[in-house]
Amino acid sequence: MIQTCPSCGSTEIIPDQGILAYQEDRDRCPVFAMLFEPTPEKHPLLWAPEVVRADFRAAICGVCGYAQLYASNAPALLQAYKSGWTIK
Ligand SMILES: [Zn+2]
Repeated sequence: MIQTCPSCGSTEIIPDQGILAYQEDRDRCPVFAMLFEPTPEKHPLLWAPEVVRADFRAAICGVCGYAQLYASNAPALLQAYKSGWTIK
């Protein structure tokens, strides 16, 4: 994670913070990215796609508020993306 803010140059960085969102029907839930395996032409009746999920952590500058997000599962997300998996 960043040690120095790229916006203001401060080293007052708050590291490794969870990112939560509020939804109407739920309390808080983490912000995440998900990629789904494409549907094969032939598959069993009861088939569900494989999923890769990446949660986000943030480094936040305590002076100017600049925030940088990091995906927890970047290598698996990249492999899925290169394999044609998509967001549904
Ligand atoms: Zn800053």
